[in-house]
Amino acid sequence: MSARHPVAPLNIHDVENFDHETEVLVVGYGCAGAAAALEACARGSDVILLERASGGGGSSALSGGEIYLGGGTETQRACGFSDTPEDMAAYLMAALGPDADKEKIDAYAHGSLEHYQWLVDHGVPFKPSLWDSPTWVPPTDDGLMWLGENSWPYDELAKPAPRGHRVTADGFGGKVLMAKLSEQVAARNIGVHTDTYATRLIMDGIRVVGVSARSFGKTVTYRARRGVVLTTGGFADNAEMVAQHAPQLVGLGVNSDGGDDGRGIVIAQAVGAAVKHMSAGQVGITLVPAMMVRGMIVNNVGQRFINEDVYPGLVGQAALYRHGLDVWVILDEQAYEEVPEVERWGVQPHYVAETLEELEEEIGMPAGALVTTIGEYNKHAADGVDPYFHKSARWLRPLQSPYAAIDVRRGMAPPELGASNGGGAEVFTTGGLWTTVDGRVLNLDGEAIPGLFAAGRATSGLHSWGYISGTSLGDGTFFGRRAGISAAGR
Ligand SMILES: Cc1cc2nc3c(=O)[nH]c(=O)nc-3n(C[C@H](O)[C@H](O)[C@H](O)COP(=O)(O)OP(=O)(O)OC[C@H]3O[C@@H](n4cnc5c(N)ncnc54)[C@H](O)[C@@H]3O)c2cc1C
Repeated sequence: MSARHPVAPLNIHDVENFDHETEVLVVGYGCAGAAAALEACARGSDVILLERASGGGGSSALSGGEIYLGGGTETQRACGFSDTPEDMAAYLMAALGPDADKEKIDAYAHGSLEHYQWLVDHGVPFKPSLWDSPTWVPPTDDGLMWLGENSWPYDELAKPAPRGHRVTADGFGGKVLMAKLSEQVAARNIGVHTDTYATRLIMDGIRVVGVSARSFGKTVTYRARRGVVLTTGGFADNAEMVAQHAPQLVGLGVNSDGGDDGRGIVIAQAVGAAVKHMSAGQVGITLVPAMMVRGMIVNNVGQRFINEDVYPGLVGQAALYRHGLDVWVILDEQAYEEVPEVERWGVQPHYVAETLEELEEEIGMPAGALVTTIGEYNKHAADGVDPYFHKSARWLRPLQSPYAAIDVRRGMAPPELGASNGGGAEVFTTGGLWTTVDGRVLNLDGEAIPGLFAAGRATSGLHSWGYISGTSLGDGTFFGRRAGISAAGR
C-alpha cells in the first residue's frame, strides 16, 4: 500500500455504493486522530477512525511523550513555577520562527490550561517533579522539564518557565499517551477500522464527502456526511517528497513509525489544498545534550556556533543547515564523568588526547583551531561568563586535560529505539497542509475546502522553521480536538 495508487479525487457519481457511512471520518489514528475522534464523538457525531496499521499509535506511540503546555498548569505550580499564556506565546514565537504562526500560537498558549486539563481528564498522567538539565528524554519519570525557555536569548524575550510536560512512563512516554487516549476511544462508540489505507478523497462538487481506501487488496469506500479529518502524519518517510520539498533532509535517518508517507497531504493537494513550510523539519541531532552543555559543540574548523544550552533541536538545525552536520562535541574528562551512565545512551568519546594540539591533529582540524576556541572559552568561563554565546553560568567551567572529542555523525543508540543509522541526525518534517486554528484545510485562495479538516504533522502547525519538543504531541492533540469539533459541526 503506497503512493503508487493515484491521488486524484473520485467524483461521487463514479462511486457505485459506499461500503460505510458515518458523520465524521478521521483518517490516521495517532495522537491527532485520537483527539479529533474523541471530540467529534463528544459533540454527538458518529465517528469512524481509519488506520493503515493493524492498530492505533503511529509515531505518537513511539515518541518521548513530551507535550508543550503552560500558562500555569497544576504540574508547573506543584513544581514551584508560575507562568502566563503571554510568556508561553512569546517563547514559542521566537523559538519556532522566523514567521511562526501567530494566530495558532496565541490560540494554543491561551488554550493550554484547558488542554492540560482535558489530557488529565482523559487519563494522561504527569508527575509533579522537575528534571532540571538539558536532555532529549529524562531517564527518570519526572513530569516537567525545561525545553530551552531558560536559555539565552529566549530568557530575555519571555519570563522563563519549564513547559515540557512529560507523560509519566517507564522510558519514553508516547506509548502511555496513546494507551490512555486509545482506552478513551475504545470506551466510546467510535468505529476503528484498521489495516485500511486511505488512498484518495471523494468529492461532491467542491465538497469533500468521503474517502476511498484499500484494505487487504480490496477497495473500500467511506461516506462522511459532515467531514473528513486528515491526521495521517508527515512525509519524512517519502523520499520523493523529501527530495522535492526539503532537500537538506535527504539521506538522514527518519524519526517516525516508518509510515510518514505524506499520503494525507497529497490527496488534499489533489483537491486544491495549499501547503506551508514544507522545507522545515525537526533535526534530532545525535548527541547527548548533557555532554554538549558541559563542554561545547564546534564545527569542522573548531569554532563554536550556538549557545549549547538551547533546546537541542535548535542546535541540530544550526548544525545541519549551517555546517552540514560536520560537527563535534568537545569536552573533558570531568564533563564526561559528570553525566550519569543512564543519560549517555551508549555515547563514548571517539578521540582522547592530553593536549588540544594532539586532539586537533587526531580529528583533522586546522592546527590551533581548538587551542584558540578553548583558550577563549576557558578565559571567560573562569569568570562565569560566555560573551560569545551566553551559555548559562551553571554550565561554564574551564575545560582541562585530558580532552575528548565526539564525532556527531557516528550517531547514538537511544535505549528505547536501538541503534541509530548514523549520519548525525534523525529528522521528521513539520510542514504540511495549511489549516485554520479550527482545523479547516485552506485552498490556494485561503478559503476553507468544504468538508475537509486536518491536524497533527500532516499540517503546518505552530511552527515555521524552528522546533521545540512537545509541540508535535501538543499541537497534534490541541488542533486535533479543534478539527474534530469543527468537523462535527456542532
Ligand atoms: C522517537 C520519537 C520521539 C518523539 N518525541 C516527541 C516528543 O516527546 N514530543 C513531541 O511533541 N513529539 C515527539 N515526536 C514527534 C511526534 O511523535 C510526531 O510528530 C507526532 O506523534 C505526530 O502525530 P500525528 O497524530 O500527526 O501522527 P502519527 O502519530 O504518526 O499518526 C498518524 C497515523 O496515521 C496513519 N496513516 C498514515 N497515512 C494513512 C492513510 N493514508 N490511511 C490511513 N491511515 C494512515 C499512520 O499509520 C499513523 O498511525 C517524536 C517522534 C519520534 C519518532
